[in-house]
Amino acid sequence: MADNFKDWLEELKSKINIVDVVEGYVSLTRKNGKYWACCPFHHEKTPSFSVDEGGMYYCFGCHKGGDVISFVQDIEHTDFMGAVSILAAKAGMSVPEFSKKGDKTGVSKRKRDRLYDLMRESASFYHKALMSEAGKAARDYLDGRGIARSTQVSFGLGFAPGNGLIDHLRQKGYGKDEMTEAGVAGTSKSGRLYDVLGGRLIVPIINNLKQVIAFGGRVLEKGEQPKYRNTKETVIFDKSKELFGQHTIKKAMIEGAVDSVIMVEGYMDVISLYQAGIKNCMASMGTALTVQQSRLLKRYADKVYISYDGDLAGQKATMRGLDILYGEGLSVKVVSVPGGKDPDEYVREFGKRGFMDLLAQAKPLFEYKLDKLAEGYDLNVAEDRGAYVVEAVKVLYELKNPAQVEAYMDYISAKANIPKPVLVKQYAQGAQAESRPIPKLELAKKTGKYYNAMRFVLYSLFGGQEGVEERDLSQYITDEEHRAIYVEYMRLKSFKEPTLDDLQAMAEQYPEVEEIFREGKRVTEEQAPKVFADCMASLEKEKNKREIAALTRQIDAEKDPVERDLLLAHYAALTAKNKK
Ligand SMILES: [Zn+2]
Repeated sequence: MADNFKDWLEELKSKINIVDVVEGYVSLTRKNGKYWACCPFHHEKTPSFSVDEGGMYYCFGCHKGGDVISFVQDIEHTDFMGAVSILAAKAGMSVPEFSKKGDKTGVSKRKRDRLYDLMRESASFYHKALMSEAGKAARDYLDGRGIARSTQVSFGLGFAPGNGLIDHLRQKGYGKDEMTEAGVAGTSKSGRLYDVLGGRLIVPIINNLKQVIAFGGRVLEKGEQPKYRNTKETVIFDKSKELFGQHTIKKAMIEGAVDSVIMVEGYMDVISLYQAGIKNCMASMGTALTVQQSRLLKRYADKVYISYDGDLAGQKATMRGLDILYGEGLSVKVVSVPGGKDPDEYVREFGKRGFMDLLAQAKPLFEYKLDKLAEGYDLNVAEDRGAYVVEAVKVLYELKNPAQVEAYMDYISAKANIPKPVLVKQYAQGAQAESRPIPKLELAKKTGKYYNAMRFVLYSLFGGQEGVEERDLSQYITDEEHRAIYVEYMRLKSFKEPTLDDLQAMAEQYPEVEEIFREGKRVTEEQAPKVFADCMASLEKEKNKREIAALTRQIDAEKDPVERDLLLAHYAALTAKNKK
């Protein structure tokens, strides 16, 4: 066996074929020496996602591309080592000890593997028990809640018949210590082992590598306490770092290119929504959201809906969790479920349609906060209005984007009926009183087709791609950061051709430069002209869209019929161009 990770990785790469790997997720068709499919990363009807046997993939629609490891990272929403583990399993190789990252527990890999095996064995025992005679009460319960057999299988639901699991694991060769360490068994006063979830409906908690890491148990009889119980935290289960529903959301994303995640409180909410056809849900396990969970979530989508029950959503701990999500650059909306219902109850009563309507009415995080705050005041009373405004502008200090501060000032102004200049003054005064700096613009990483395209165009500019000089890029590079990079580069260029050292210096000032190179290098020299042309076409479309939007506003405001007709003609020409 290889004695360092690099050699081992080479060995792994030589054993896997990207075509086989991709084929495991989407079906490929061979054409012009490449394999094609509809892209699993964006929604499309004609294939623009290509794989070549040289080991790279690239999508001409959303410009995602890379090698087999980055493909698995993207499609499995995992990190580098996560992707490596998945590929190693496919190749029948085991990830060597020297590469095991993040294991600060000092627990050997062998031991952890034993625990994973024990958990899988337990899950399969519980699942079989659910489908057996012993599981009838649990099946009746699930039937009562409308959870179909297929959903039960998707989530690997089970039932814990008394202490049956203990005997089963013993037969499989697991000892007392292993069972207690895994959290499935407890020890009674008399020293006997018992199943900590005995008599309960079992919900396995599965990580993003499809390993069972813990179990949740729900009582079947009304009134029994506690209603939910989880197995304890172990060396393979740290609940502050995991989310429930990862394996199902992953599948849903490949099938339907979902662009958001719905966060709910409990696993029964996830299961009920899934059953109703809403498959992009995850749950944190009884804690307010942590930074680690936010980062995990971000691997799945940039947009998140929070659907907690009314009481919990307003609580301080929950709010902190939402601030963490926002801080990680996610767009956060809060869903209010009427009548104090939880999502599980609501979707069972009103179906997918009803729940989707709630999503459509979800409030952006800061609107939610400002409304929540207003509940404590009577805004018909002048004194209360003043007091509300003082607190409301403080909420805005957490906003990163000055344009958003502006927009929410308008919101508060309308809500409290206080003129905006007063709020602006209050905002500055409040900041001074608390001696906090007025929030600066902090740059969140921008993703999506449009930003990818801008980055690739800049990469082409740096690399002297043919045809790039002829284009006036200033019309296309429109967002603040990319524009700053572009302007700086052109400024340097007006003196002399910028060197790699110049670019290095720029990277220190503008972190995006590094990103531009990192992404750009994923495209081979051979692909580059085509990719460049595609990116330019996307940007052109985007530019037209912006013009159309501006024109629409102008048309709406134009009173003069002749002027209006001229604008309308211009509008028709622009929209026709954009359809091409
Ligand atoms: Zn794509």
